[in-house]
Amino acid sequence: KQANGKYLVTLIPGDGIGPEVANSVKEIYRAADVPIDWEEVEVTPLIRNGKQIIPDDSVASIKKNTVALKGPLATPIGKGHVSMNLTLRRTFNLFANVRPCRSIQGYKTPYDNVDTVLIRENTEGEYSGIEHEVVDGVVQSIKLITLEASERVARYAFHHAEQNGRNKVTAVHKANIMKMSDGMFLHACRQVAKEYPHIEYDEDLLDRACLRIVQDPAPYADRVMVMPNLYGDILSDMCAGLIGGLGLTPSGNIGKDASLFEAVHGTAPMIAGKDMANPTALLLSSIMMLRHMSLFEHADKIESGVFSAIAHGERTGDLGGKHGTKAFTESIIKRLGEKP
Ligand code: NAD
Repeated sequence: KQANGKYLVTLIPGDGIGPEVANSVKEIYRAADVPIDWEEVEVTPLIRNGKQIIPDDSVASIKKNTVALKGPLATPIGKGHVSMNLTLRRTFNLFANVRPCRSIQGYKTPYDNVDTVLIRENTEGEYSGIEHEVVDGVVQSIKLITLEASERVARYAFHHAEQNGRNKVTAVHKANIMKMSDGMFLHACRQVAKEYPHIEYDEDLLDRACLRIVQDPAPYADRVMVMPNLYGDILSDMCAGLIGGLGLTPSGNIGKDASLFEAVHGTAPMIAGKDMANPTALLLSSIMMLRHMSLFEHADKIESGVFSAIAHGERTGDLGGKHGTKAFTESIIKRLGEKP
């Protein structure tokens, strides 16, 4: 908190549609009198000693403020480029990725009762980036699972369940096949479960969880699901599909020294700069951030504004509406605090 009573938060607008959706968030925050000053930084990668790094001032800003809101970043494809998202996760040890998906009132999808919360291990697994060619035509990719990272994400899952009134944690796995790696992940979850006797704990196979959620998402509204990195990546997009797609899904990366909130979607290059992007995902990510900062009233006011606008049919093109990013932002501002 600064001398003026406001919190300083790092803002990374990002690439593609990033600046447009970030602008929408800034305008809505101004209208809702949120006590936040933005410190805007770029994270365009630099090469130092042949290694790709994040500019020092953006690292310093996130370290100092400990909370950041981030737009999508373009990932260069090909050899030698590490994704900036991965670099950010590693730099700040953002060990848990929280992805809630809740049905949006007034926007019709096959189910109107989706309310899932998924927590993805964010630092290792298939994303450890250790791959090599053994011999010509044979490649080995290493899935790294450590007890420490598994325990850390499991503990956060139970903590999150407790804080958010969910009375169950389900570990999602493939330990029937990956007996040692996923087996250890489950072992960690079971150990941590003993520290939370008031929260129910169970386990489900990834394939079975997918099948059940698409057949009937209702039973999953009472719990938090926790899982290794890649499973979380896939399962969270599946849940996003159930509520209307990537324009709607927020996420939070929780770390020891900082937390970074971002939309699940990418830079959407096809619609960038055309006033077509849906800012809802970044806005809902920022609402997770406000709750993380205990700014509950402001979170509720903005959340009801965005849901009310959507429920009244004021929507962007991805949701079948006619509003541009700017017009949709205006609708939300007019409806701040209104019940959907
Ligand atoms: P994408 O999420 O950018 O786009 C997928 C589809 O969803 C497109 O049709 C797009 O138009 C639509 N879409 C996404 N967000 C939208 C929004 N807010 N409003 C309306 N429509 C939206 O995924 P992609 O095309 O696979 O990736 C494009 C780039 O983004 C790549 O460089 C990728 O590496 C990067 N990316 C970054 C992140 C991140 O920074 N967290 C995440 C995913 C992808």
